[in-house]
Amino acid sequence: MSATDEWVVVGLDNGGTCNNATVLDASGRFLVDRLAEVPSRVRKGPGPAVDALEQALDQVLHSTGIDRAAVRAVGLDTPGPANADGVISEKGATNFSAPAWHGFDVRGALEDRLGLPVIYNNDGNAAALYAHHAQFGAAATDRSSVSAIVGTGLGGGVIEAGQVVRGATGMAGELGHVPIPMDGLLADGQPVPMCNCGLAADVESVASLTGIERNLLPYWLTRFSGHELARAGSLGAAARLVRGYGEKEDPMALEIFEQQAMALGRLFTIAANFTDPHTYFVGGGVVETTPGFREWFLERVKAHTVLRVEQAQVANFALVPDLDMAGARGSAIAALAAVTAGRA
Ligand SMILES: [Zn+2]
Repeated sequence: MSATDEWVVVGLDNGGTCNNATVLDASGRFLVDRLAEVPSRVRKGPGPAVDALEQALDQVLHSTGIDRAAVRAVGLDTPGPANADGVISEKGATNFSAPAWHGFDVRGALEDRLGLPVIYNNDGNAAALYAHHAQFGAAATDRSSVSAIVGTGLGGGVIEAGQVVRGATGMAGELGHVPIPMDGLLADGQPVPMCNCGLAADVESVASLTGIERNLLPYWLTRFSGHELARAGSLGAAARLVRGYGEKEDPMALEIFEQQAMALGRLFTIAANFTDPHTYFVGGGVVETTPGFREWFLERVKAHTVLRVEQAQVANFALVPDLDMAGARGSAIAALAAVTAGRA
């Protein structure tokens, strides 16, 4: 396809090691069905990273046989914290620690480089947008959803009428740092969990890999003395092995995942009273597992979510699909929506 009357948008998902890219045509059809990755070079600073984003765009266009002239807009997502316009936090961030990144306008820099409109979302919001559109298709603009994605931290987003809820400063949908009640969640003598953000007892302090390492595993290893994971070498190494034990129905691992499911259920209970969504999505490492364990976990999240009778009749619980491609795809959906609405 090279005719200028046919056009596409490109989605770029920026990560700590790789950029993934996709192409979406004007009818809403994805032209790439697998990961299309190049190294992201974010640790070398903004200049090499913007080069790498352009390279990802060129490579995915080459793989689909599409000229750059056919691209109307580009969607970009990165890990946060960044504001709604794609300016990285003044304090930097895990992936953007070099001083040149602090306060850097990555969206604007890519827009200048490409000479194309660039629409920005953080990675959790982009994945939430993709999950929403994959679930609802043509009805997406009449539906709402909330997505919780359990990884190193707890990301996700809130979608209303098919669009990301950004808030006044771009900080809406920071679901990991919503405080939740710990009453009935913590076991006897279990310390109040602390989050990297400085808060105690927020969702991420329990429902994240970091939460397992810092808070859940140190406690549960005292309750299951002699457990194999005590000999894993480090808490970080042990934390990454917990899911495998869960799949084998190890009692300690099930206690840990039950607490994570309860934390997500308490978050979704808050969501039920705030935006009353049609669908509650769960994604991330916690559900990238065997079908049996995945279904068990989703059922436990549902069991811990308190819905009114009317809500329970309408709402459903689902997994974020194609998580490794969800960021790029959600970014492309945001770019297509901007073009269609005349904003790009
Ligand atoms: Zn936090």
